[in-house]
Amino acid sequence: MDFIDPHIHIASRTTDDLAVMAKMGCRAVAEPAFWMGYDRSGVNSFHDYFRQLTEWEPRRCANFGIDHYSWMGINAKEAEDVGFSREVIAELPSFLDRPTVLGIGEIGLHKCTRNEVATLELLIDLALSRGEMMVFHTPHLEDKYKGTRMILDLLRGDRRVDPARVCIDHCEEHTIRLALEEGYWAGVTLYPVTKANPRRLVDLVEMVGPDRLLANSSADWGPSDPLAVPEVVASMRRRGHPFSTIHQLVWDNPVAFLGQSAHFHAPI
Ligand SMILES: [Zn+2]
Repeated sequence: MDFIDPHIHIASRTTDDLAVMAKMGCRAVAEPAFWMGYDRSGVNSFHDYFRQLTEWEPRRCANFGIDHYSWMGINAKEAEDVGFSREVIAELPSFLDRPTVLGIGEIGLHKCTRNEVATLELLIDLALSRGEMMVFHTPHLEDKYKGTRMILDLLRGDRRVDPARVCIDHCEEHTIRLALEEGYWAGVTLYPVTKANPRRLVDLVEMVGPDRLLANSSADWGPSDPLAVPEVVASMRRRGHPFSTIHQLVWDNPVAFLGQSAHFHAPI
């Protein structure tokens, strides 16, 4: 079945991965800016990474008929130095204007520190001042509930926020309703070890329905699976879900969410 992976770190994946994803039906991906496993030593390092996401990775994906989009931002793991973050944020507007960039992401919280919040507020303000869409990374494991609440509180305090143009990502059973009840899109990340997995995603669909859910692999340099979304298709089929629900989850939903950006063109 054709599918879109709305959150995957292609820069960390091999060309062989792209070939297999294409064979399995992947037609488009969206790649949020991310922590590459080491802290960058200067603004130029971010600048080159943003160039990679907007120049090189779209070309690499195009070789396999996969449309590549990206989100620009600073991951919470590198957001502790607010002065440095300001310098990186100053780079973002020129990249946001590039034709395959969808908005600001993934931004959010990691350890939920005061400095992370200060950087996050700068990023949210940039997004809202430009009318950009946003993707939020919520913290891992024990900090997830607290961090998700903190992000939602920050957004609730700003009247410019349109929840329909925001994805709260890495939702799990105990946070998904927080996001959905306030009108946000809820990303569910399918990891082999941490976060959710395909079987738990099917449980979630049965609990809250498929509306405004975005299934993604978030595949990166760690243990992760670039075929997690087709694995969801197989899991949904095994559990007896109709084609229409599966198609909504892996195609219609990402097209509806990403399509709110004028830069996104649904594959035909
Ligand atoms: Zn990610």
